[in-house]
Amino acid sequence: MEILEGLKQEDHPVGVGQLFFTKIHYKKTCGKDASHVSENLIEFSPAFFHLQIADSSKSSIPLPEMIEAHFLPVVMDDYKVNDLPECSICKVRSRHTDQKFIYQLPTFIMFSIVRCVHLPRERRLVNPIDFPLENLDMSPYVTPKSSNPLLYNLVAILQHGPTCTGGHYKAFTKNPKSGKWHLHNDVCRPR
Ligand SMILES: [Zn+2]
Repeated sequence: MEILEGLKQEDHPVGVGQLFFTKIHYKKTCGKDASHVSENLIEFSPAFFHLQIADSSKSSIPLPEMIEAHFLPVVMDDYKVNDLPECSICKVRSRHTDQKFIYQLPTFIMFSIVRCVHLPRERRLVNPIDFPLENLDMSPYVTPKSSNPLLYNLVAILQHGPTCTGGHYKAFTKNPKSGKWHLHNDVCRPR
């Protein structure tokens, strides 16, 4: 998806990789004292946002719903007690909370829909994803808060299938001049 307005790009040389350059702001909050917060800024180029299908019984899943779930705070409670992370301030091991925000948006943002699950058996989730063709607003997920919407339009889709272990890729791209969509499919035919 390509951003429309409200660019947060900083000055940097333009190369293909830079079109996907993103900075993510990570925030870790101590489980014993919520005022103990450590923060980290990490750069990604390219950046993929891996979105989970939380409820595979749904017939259709809105992309904004998946994005919202991706940026929710997560309590890290799957550690054994001795493996719990230590707070850098009080030095106590506790179930901390992780949250991330986008500090710098890319020109093109990429979402990867995680369709393969491995437990209790390997299978591919085939739920259709309902995504907006225009005006996907990413402003709720940026820091510092933006008072303006930060909008993206859909410009390409890359699809893999039919199974988790085999298949091939095909792509749909939108011509920026004509606005028409094109299918790119390198399917091999038997001789
Ligand atoms: Zn602490």
